[in-house]
Amino acid sequence: MHVRTARLLTALTAVLTVTTACGSGQAGPAPGTGAQGGRTDITAAMYPLQWLAERIGGPDTAVTALTKPGVEPHDLELSPVQIAGIERTGLVVYVKGVQPAVDEAVEQHAADRGFDAAALVKTLPLSDDGEEDEEGHAHDTSYDPHVWLDPTRMAAIATKLGDRLAEADPAHAKGYRDRAAATVADLTTLDGEMSRGLSTCSSRAIVTSHAAFGYLADRYKLRQIGITGLDPEAEPSPARLAEVANVAKQEKVTTIFSETLVSPKVAEVLSREIGARTAVLDPVESQPANGDYLSAMRQNLSALKTALGCS
Ligand SMILES: [Zn+2]
Repeated sequence: MHVRTARLLTALTAVLTVTTACGSGQAGPAPGTGAQGGRTDITAAMYPLQWLAERIGGPDTAVTALTKPGVEPHDLELSPVQIAGIERTGLVVYVKGVQPAVDEAVEQHAADRGFDAAALVKTLPLSDDGEEDEEGHAHDTSYDPHVWLDPTRMAAIATKLGDRLAEADPAHAKGYRDRAAATVADLTTLDGEMSRGLSTCSSRAIVTSHAAFGYLADRYKLRQIGITGLDPEAEPSPARLAEVANVAKQEKVTTIFSETLVSPKVAEVLSREIGARTAVLDPVESQPANGDYLSAMRQNLSALKTALGCS
């Protein structure tokens, strides 16, 4: 009952806030300006972009996250309040192809205020492995959208986000560009650690739950074998499991990776089948319980070094 009451209050507060903003005429921000008390209002669709927006926006912006911490973002549904927020925000930072509901909302309500990270970097085609989506979820892209798992692509996106914010809010341009440069420096350091850490390994094949790690594999010359396709909730068929088990045996895979927000059941079954261990690889699609994008990627590096026998 308490939970329900709290939810109701939250919903009411949100409705009242929206009503006030819409009905305030001259006093409040006009729809579409996305300014909140002199700060630019940014809506971030999922965690990696929230992290970039908060770091680069700094004190000059107010960032609203559409995906709550610990929630798997692919199948996110938007509430009417969130859609109203998208109508009024200054910038929606998202990756087209990850969250169909967000793609649609931007197209309908914020076409001139969308910042699509996937459009800014060289994308990779969908992985051949596990592309079948048995749940019938539509991915209306021809590319793999998980661009944030390559720190160098993240750095390119950071620079462009700094530029975009500087153009939208020239009074604070230096702050945006300086913070973007600091973010790029951190991502470049991370990339160096990952390049060195994964340069000499006894195996280069990674078996992952869903095919999220194509960009990481591309950057560090690993080979991803995704058990399911792009949708982490999809159940692999027995035929697909048998196929992955065969490839994993051939490649002498020691570790089957599961991920933070998805049941490890499939990874456990497969690891028993081929006599391998399981470990966690975080696709950083949601805010880590502890730490941030950089620390989650460093944990991934550590897990990969162990699994692949890197010196
Ligand atoms: Zn994913």
